[in-house]
Amino acid sequence: MDLSTVNQRIENLKKELNGHNYRYYVLNEPVISDFDYDQLMQELINLERDYPQFADPLSPSQRIGDDRNLEFIQREHTMVMYSLGNTYNREEVIEFDSRLRKIIEEPIEYACELKYDGAAISLTYEHGRLVRGLTRGDGTRGDDVTANLKTIRSIPLTISADDCPAIFEIRGEIILQRDTFNSLNEERLLEGDAPFANPRNAASGTLKMQNSSLVAKRKLDCFFYSLAGEELPCSTHSENLSWARKCGFKVPPYLEVFKDINGVLTFIDKWKDARKKLPFDTDGAVIKVNSTLQQNLAGFTAKSPRWAMAYKYPPDQAETRLISVDFQVGRTGAITPVANLDPVLLAGTTVKRASLHNADQIRLLNLHIGDYVIIEKGGEIIPKIISVNLSKRDLFATEVDFITNCPECGTELTRDPGEAKHFCPNEDLCPPQIKGKIEHFISRKAMNIDSAGSETVGQLYEADLLHSVADLYDLSYDQLIKLDRFADKSVSNLTAAIEDSKKIQFERVLFALGIRYVGETVAKKLARTLGSIEAIRQASKDQLTSVDEIGERIAESLIAWFSRDKNLILIQRLQDHGVRMSQEIEENIRQIQPLSGKSVVISGTFSRFSRDELKDLVEKFGGKNTSSVSSKTSFILAGENMGPEKLKKANDLSIPIIGEDEFINLLSL
Ligand code: NAD
Repeated sequence: MDLSTVNQRIENLKKELNGHNYRYYVLNEPVISDFDYDQLMQELINLERDYPQFADPLSPSQRIGDDRNLEFIQREHTMVMYSLGNTYNREEVIEFDSRLRKIIEEPIEYACELKYDGAAISLTYEHGRLVRGLTRGDGTRGDDVTANLKTIRSIPLTISADDCPAIFEIRGEIILQRDTFNSLNEERLLEGDAPFANPRNAASGTLKMQNSSLVAKRKLDCFFYSLAGEELPCSTHSENLSWARKCGFKVPPYLEVFKDINGVLTFIDKWKDARKKLPFDTDGAVIKVNSTLQQNLAGFTAKSPRWAMAYKYPPDQAETRLISVDFQVGRTGAITPVANLDPVLLAGTTVKRASLHNADQIRLLNLHIGDYVIIEKGGEIIPKIISVNLSKRDLFATEVDFITNCPECGTELTRDPGEAKHFCPNEDLCPPQIKGKIEHFISRKAMNIDSAGSETVGQLYEADLLHSVADLYDLSYDQLIKLDRFADKSVSNLTAAIEDSKKIQFERVLFALGIRYVGETVAKKLARTLGSIEAIRQASKDQLTSVDEIGERIAESLIAWFSRDKNLILIQRLQDHGVRMSQEIEENIRQIQPLSGKSVVISGTFSRFSRDELKDLVEKFGGKNTSSVSSKTSFILAGENMGPEKLKKANDLSIPIIGEDEFINLLSL
């Protein structure tokens, strides 16, 4: 490769990896498997090593993947939270040992653990009390998710060990056990929400939710794997973890200590298949120098400790037969080819379908119907076909042709230059696009009309009552009650949810409109910067691209969307029905706070929030905290063991007493 080609490849890899980091750490919606990501990263590391003139301290190879978003307060870690170097190769585990033995003269003991697949957090305890919990963030600053972490039962809120340091940090992985994950996805499907791709995405997405009471319902778990601090109770990693377990932290029992690297290799082999029987996901083994003194000798690179590494198990593969290819039409008109396969067991689940992404992918694989194909499941993402076993191809097998017309409405497909996907341009009349847009509009993250799912949308569409999202607001009791499966209660639930959606913030309305490339984050940025639908409509391309994170592609998509009369009519109809189209209106409404003019007494102990957090909430929502009960008290927020005097006085004065759940509902948290 000549130098300019190398430079170009490095730049492309950096751009691609940064994009994947954002989708993985911030959006929790990765589009490639961890294995594919790691291959791209390894290619970048190798090129930067071989061509040091192109090294860049800001390259993703030098930086810890950043999970922070706009929603949380960010705080400094007392000690950096590093990533881990990783390999899929046993030889490199042996090289890791050789490198260390050049730095450390004494024999090296290794502690081996499983690598839990979730999201990293660091908890700080002061005088035995949990005071702060941060995500890894960029390693030096993380998102403060303390309120959410307090809802997790395996995180002790207080510990009482005699030898407990006054201040210490403990690190762990927030995970979802597979059973819990499966029930969560079943529930989401029932409610018409998209299922999570894997337990890791579900766990890290949940950790970043704004509503702690919803977090509590998701039953997250926390596995602890290291203590951090200048003065730790013991001199080895394994003893420190035993100490943590004794204090009540959930330290999994799989840690083993080995005298040399051969022991480490037996640990890796032992867990290769055994890990699949565990009730939670693991993606490898973590090998750490056990002595903290030796760890200090080895030190750190910019991104990871030199004294630890992860061995990752290569993705599972299986061979099966391709029966046929379906072409699905999404809400944006994008066509996704999906392979139907002879069912085959792969990584613990039966696989019947695999994604084929786009026409190029099919051509690259040179796929024929009836082919024996190798499928792979990396990082538990939807399986994909990686190659064809040509030796088994039938002589008369026919090649898979990409369709030229929409399988739903027959319109000729289009493909824009530079786009990988084909699209059906008939967005106004193609049924799955119409229904898909309505399903997106009512989804929980958008207008949250949660009493309608995709089945209801289909039914209303077939009954000619629903062709556009604005039609939702014209639905009447009389129309609905005549339909199958609708009874008095379901009709009132649906009409109430539609009515409630008029209170949804503008940034979510903007997301709900389903404009191409305007996802949740982009919608937030646009709404918060430009303030109203009218301002966004009138903004020039330059004004749009000057908004943080809005590039040309998004700006062009917005301009195209607003140039269509049909969309302007849609906005007008929604606005006439009272759907919010600006931030200002929201600011005014926010001033009408639910606790305005209310005097609140808090008494007892609570399970989800501390008393201080509850006091903050009272103030934030316009109320006033008072310590004693009087005739002026509006209500008492009572936890367990409410003071008996307060209880008596409240009864005497007939003052309402509400619990934590009721309070949270009152604030619509
Ligand atoms: P990592 O997940 O490979 O390793 C570091 C993390 O391992 C730690 O932060 C900790 O949270 C976790 N861990 C779990 N068990 C542990 C244990 N017993 N001891 C110590 N740590 C333990 O590194 P990372 O920097 O968080 O993420 C990089 C990896 O994430 C990549 O290698 C890739 O596999 C994946 N990734 C995938 C995509 C994608 O698009 N698919 C994008 C970015 C990152």
